[in-house]
Amino acid sequence: MVSLILRGEPLMSAGQPADIEAVLFDKDGTLSHSEPHLLSLATIRLGHCVRLSGSSHGEVLADLLGRAYGLHPDHHSLNPAGTIAVAARDHNLLSTAVALAQVGHGWPEALVLAEETFRLADLDTPSGSSVAHPTPGLLELIRDLRQRQVTCAVISNDDTAGIQAFLDTHQLSEDFAAIWSADHRPRKPDPGSVQALCQTLGVIPTRCALIGDANSDLRMAHAAGVAVVLGYRGGWRQAVDLEQTSPWLDHWHELRVG
Ligand SMILES: [Mg+2]
Repeated sequence: MVSLILRGEPLMSAGQPADIEAVLFDKDGTLSHSEPHLLSLATIRLGHCVRLSGSSHGEVLADLLGRAYGLHPDHHSLNPAGTIAVAARDHNLLSTAVALAQVGHGWPEALVLAEETFRLADLDTPSGSSVAHPTPGLLELIRDLRQRQVTCAVISNDDTAGIQAFLDTHQLSEDFAAIWSADHRPRKPDPGSVQALCQTLGVIPTRCALIGDANSDLRMAHAAGVAVVLGYRGGWRQAVDLEQTSPWLDHWHELRVG
């Protein structure tokens, strides 16, 4: 039996220490310290979008885009629950198009401008998943889980290529048995995504833990029947405001494999 010990106490399920066969990890802000790259991506998209729009409402557009992306007004941090931190690329693209529509562009034109914004920003930014570092102490936790034959998997709204690039860059591909990405259906935060990933892994949700940095991750895991649901708050400069329905940790060294 393998249990997870948080600050000295075993994590419980149905009144006893949960017996864990698999741990499902969110990527951005949980496995990966993604904020520096996402911050730069948000700023670059905002710059291209304002320039392409050519609208006289440049300042209003910049403000709308910043709010949509979850960019802090000082441009030094992100809202961990904002669009760029949490949502898949297509949702970010739509949020960009909505901001363009709000300053007067027709919807077809707004979509074209949003797509061009994303294309230009991609040319300016290296693949975020290959430049982002693992969160501090993560590699030791993964090593301990693998030593106890616990299966690890990723469930993220990044695309499969982005997740794979992160795992490859940090020599983690062998340690993660499966990926459930924005390319899969259903995708996060549908609880069906957790159940489908569990099926792929050959485990049942009641023998799994799920660790994420967003309330949507935690609600999804509870709804899917996951035994141990844990919040992780160490991935962002701004404190992650997690609901009290699950325990959380700020550093991986608070969690031990028992
Ligand atoms: Mg996340």
